Amino acid sequence: MGDNCECGSFPKCQKCGGQLVPLSDFSNNAVSIRYKSWACTNKDCRFFIVLRGGDVYYGTATAESAR
Ligand SMILES: [Zn+2]
Repeated sequence: MGDNCECGSFPKCQKCGGQLVPLSDFSNNAVSIRYKSWACTNKDCRFFIVLRGGDVYYGTATAESAR
């Protein structure tokens, strides 16, 4: 019991307390991507976390960083 339940398995947003969802990220060359991205489902919050090479990057998806 609990193996099939994904509720609570996702981390919570540290900014607004909402839910973060994993984002699939594949390169054009089908090279394996070694990082995961998580984004807040609250579009007004836009908090995101990126795990890359053991380091954690986080912030908000501002128009400037989205370039
Ligand atoms: Zn949030």
